[in-house]
Amino acid sequence: MSQIQAPITQDVLTIPRKLPEGARNLVGLTRPLLREALIEIGTPEKQAKMRVNQLWQWIYHWGVRDFAQMTNLAKDFRANLAENFTIELPEIVSKNVSADGTRKYLVKIAGGHEVEVVYIPETDRGTLCVSSQVGCTLTCSFCHTGTQKLVRNLTPGEIVGQIMLVRDDLGEWPEPGTGTGENGPRLLSNIVLMGMGEPLYNFEGVRDAMKIAMDGEGIALSRRRITLSTSGVVPEIARAAEEIGCLLAVSFHATTDEVRDKLVPINKRWNIETLLDALREYPRLSNSERITFEYVMLKGVNDSDEDARRLVRLIKGIPAKINLIPFNEWPGSPYERSDWSRIEAFADIVHKAGYASPIRTPRGEDIMAACGQLKSATERARKSRAEIAKEAGV
Ligand code: SAH
Ligand code: SF4
Repeated sequence: MSQIQAPITQDVLTIPRKLPEGARNLVGLTRPLLREALIEIGTPEKQAKMRVNQLWQWIYHWGVRDFAQMTNLAKDFRANLAENFTIELPEIVSKNVSADGTRKYLVKIAGGHEVEVVYIPETDRGTLCVSSQVGCTLTCSFCHTGTQKLVRNLTPGEIVGQIMLVRDDLGEWPEPGTGTGENGPRLLSNIVLMGMGEPLYNFEGVRDAMKIAMDGEGIALSRRRITLSTSGVVPEIARAAEEIGCLLAVSFHATTDEVRDKLVPINKRWNIETLLDALREYPRLSNSERITFEYVMLKGVNDSDEDARRLVRLIKGIPAKINLIPFNEWPGSPYERSDWSRIEAFADIVHKAGYASPIRTPRGEDIMAACGQLKSATERARKSRAEIAKEAGV
């Protein structure tokens, strides 16, 4: 019998730093924007490229936040930087560590809003689940985040900042002076855009943040270690292939439009057939391999043998992996998790048809960090239980 350990909760005290009046945060500026910012404070155009390279390495390779420590820059240039700019990350309000090692961070962003970021350690990798919006405009009936109204899109700095502050917490920045070459296995090796929000409804923010995370002179995560999950914003899928080029996951969850309309209401706008057409094009456009189909297992709703067979027929010809997600309950959720034997029977049909069909082990459930459980408790604009049930058609 397994013993349930109490989760460890730790409050992280952050001392607010006094910022120079009107200082601009450099975190989240892409290389061209950083160049412009440096020219604006008087950096000669001829030097701008070199200065961008130097700053980039300090900020994104060594994780340094204080201009005074940037020893290869002239003293007066450092002073000029400090007068005009800051290197600021969102603030960690609290950190919860699950019995299974999963860490959930509550992060405060400008305006006092909060988002959640989850770090999931595994034997061969460490995955960070990053949020792209505060809340979500979409209203998937099984998702806790969907019960929270959208407050706003995160800025590129707030998105890449999530990666940086978890690297801080893991103590994972290389020593200043060490090169940008491959430096062994990483604790934070993979990114999934599966936290709060619909990443393709914050396209530019997500794209710029991922460009920064992928840059080889900085955080240097390969585009094959980044997976963007979308509920099916069809017009942005090809654009994601071209402008981001990361791996794609799709919240599929149903095999008929009738059921998908209820679970993932964006299906009423772009139905299964339209979505599949866009997905068929993705691997070629992004030069990547297979697409991950996420499929949440809801008892008696989408989990029959017939569903499994229909799923296999629908995705025929698309290089795919099917990720089966046992439903994670949350207070007031209108569904139940499918029985384990049902999930296995479903997985078996998909597997026999030639697709990898891993069942995702829920991680961090004791701290409400599992898929679909994220929601910042402080946001007051909530949908009522009745609204959720109505949207779910239950
Ligand atoms: N908005 C994006 C990414 C965030 S959701 C999207 O919908 O794809 C990340 C994944 O968790 C999605 O596949 C989502 O459908 C799934 N999910 C949401 N709520 C869940 C729940 N309660 N249990 C299990 N999975 C859930
Ligand atoms: Fe938004 Fe994704 Fe949740 Fe749907 S599943 S409500 S798109 S976060």
